[in-house]
Amino acid sequence: MSKPRLLGSLFQWIDSDYSAESPEAIRAQPDGVNLVRCIPFLILHLGCLGVIWTGWSWLAVSLAIGLYFIRMFAVTGIYHRYFSHKTYSTSRFGQFLLALLGATCVQRGGLWWAYHHRHHHQHSDEPSDAHSPHVHGFWWSHIGWITSRRNFPTDYTKIRDLAKYPELVFLNRFDVIVPVLFATTLFVLGHSLEEALPAWHTSGPQLLVWGFFISTTALFHGTSCINSLAHLMGGRRFATSDDSRNSFILSLITLGEGWHNNHHRYMSSTRQGFYWWELDITYYILKALSWTGFIWDLKPVPASIYREAELRNHQDTLARFSISSVQHEIDLLRRAVPTAAAIALATVHSTEVAAQMKKVDGPAVHKNIGELIVPLNQTAPEPKSDI
Ligand SMILES: [Zn+2]
Ligand SMILES: [Zn+2]
Repeated sequence: MSKPRLLGSLFQWIDSDYSAESPEAIRAQPDGVNLVRCIPFLILHLGCLGVIWTGWSWLAVSLAIGLYFIRMFAVTGIYHRYFSHKTYSTSRFGQFLLALLGATCVQRGGLWWAYHHRHHHQHSDEPSDAHSPHVHGFWWSHIGWITSRRNFPTDYTKIRDLAKYPELVFLNRFDVIVPVLFATTLFVLGHSLEEALPAWHTSGPQLLVWGFFISTTALFHGTSCINSLAHLMGGRRFATSDDSRNSFILSLITLGEGWHNNHHRYMSSTRQGFYWWELDITYYILKALSWTGFIWDLKPVPASIYREAELRNHQDTLARFSISSVQHEIDLLRRAVPTAAAIALATVHSTEVAAQMKKVDGPAVHKNIGELIVPLNQTAPEPKSDI
C-alpha cells in the first residue's frame, strides 16, 4: 500500500468520508481487503478475548445479552426499517435520536448502512450485489464484503433524502464517536459499580469486554446472517427474482428480519412477518412506539400482497396434492401390475397343463392358481416340450 493510501486509511478511522477519490471511483474498483482500515474491526473481535482476564459475572452476561437485543432492534427497526426503507415517520429530532441509538451498534453510520442496503435490493443476487452468497460465496457475503475498500464510502448522491440532514451526515462521517462514547460509558459504569456494589463482582474492564466487545461482535454476526444465510436457508413464499428466504430461526436471532423473502417481495411495509405466526418482535416494538406518538404512519402490507401470498399458498397446495395423487396412482400400478402379470402367467400355465392332460387322456387335474404364479423377478419356467 502506498504511503498516501496508508495515511488515508488511518484518517478514515476518524473521518470515514476522508478520501481523495470520489465514492463512485472507489466503487468502480475491484474488491480487495483494506487491512489498515479494518484494524478497528479486528480489535472489536480480539477484544472478546479480554474475558480471559476479566472473567464473568451475572451482571456482565445479562448486560451483554440485553445490549445485543436492544441494539438488534436498533439495526432492524432503525437502520433497516427507517433509514433504508422509510417504513414509518418520526420528527427530525426523533430521527436524530434514532440515529444515535443506531450508531451504538458499531455498524458504521445509518447513511452508509442505508446506501449499501438499498443497493442490495436493487441488485439482489446479481454480480454487482456486494454481499450475495450465490455470487461471492458464504464468507464473503457474511464478513468479507465489509472489509473491501470499494464498500467503505457512502455515496450521498444516491441517498439524497437522508443526506439533506447535516446532523445525520455528521454522525455518518464521524461514525467512531458514538461507539467510543458508548464503550467509555460501559467502562465507567463497571468501575463505579465495583466501588459502590462490590458484591456484584464486576469491574470496568469486565463490563467493557461483555457489554461492548462480546455483545457488539455477536450483534455483527447476528445481523450478517441476513446477508449470508437469509439467501440460502429457509422457504420461499414469493417467487422473487433473487433467492431470498423466510426462516423462523433467523427471525429469532434478528428480531424478525428472518422473513427475508416477504421483505424482498414488499420492502415498504413496517412489518416483515406478514402473519401473526411469523414472529416479528421489531414490528411489535415499533407498533408500541407508535402508540406513544414518537413514531407514526407505519406502512401496512397491501391487500394485493396478501392476495398474492394466498394464491401462492393455493398453488403450492395444488402442486403438493397433484404430486401426492400421482404418487398414489403410481403405487396402485406398482401393486396392480405384478398381480395382473401373475394372473396372465397362471392362465398360460393352466392352459398348457390342460392341453397336456388332454393329450395323455388322463383325469382332469385342478391346481391351485397360487402355485402357478411366478414372481416377476424370477424367470418363468420353460414349458415342457411334448414327448
Ligand atoms: Zn436480501
Ligand atoms: Zn431491506
